[in-house]
Amino acid sequence: MESNERKRKELEDRKQTLAASLPPFTEMMRASLFERQIKCGKASCRCAQGKGHPTTYLSVSFKGGKTVQITVPKKLVSRVRKLVENYSEFWSALEQISEINRQLLRMRLLESDPNEDHSR
Ligand SMILES: [Zn+2]
Repeated sequence: MESNERKRKELEDRKQTLAASLPPFTEMMRASLFERQIKCGKASCRCAQGKGHPTTYLSVSFKGGKTVQITVPKKLVSRVRKLVENYSEFWSALEQISEINRQLLRMRLLESDPNEDHSR
């Protein structure tokens, strides 16, 4: 009983830590980024001989197999990268919360609705 209570506290604490570290809900984008070398077409440009200009693209796929690609302006690359990272971070946190709640249920440590708890 004692160790159950400790386990429950530990799992609840992990949930709180996860919740506190979530990225802002408004700062997410489901996509992946990739880079491609682009030739600009100007005969005088250095890219006509050697490597093209590195250009970042954002790619999103939709149900049914449709994929959309958008070029990302250089000055927005780090911001867009962050949005994309936030998205997977959020899903990872969601999976972990889900797993913790499943453990709590399996160990019969899940409490009834915390909103009904007036003891705090
Ligand atoms: Zn060029």
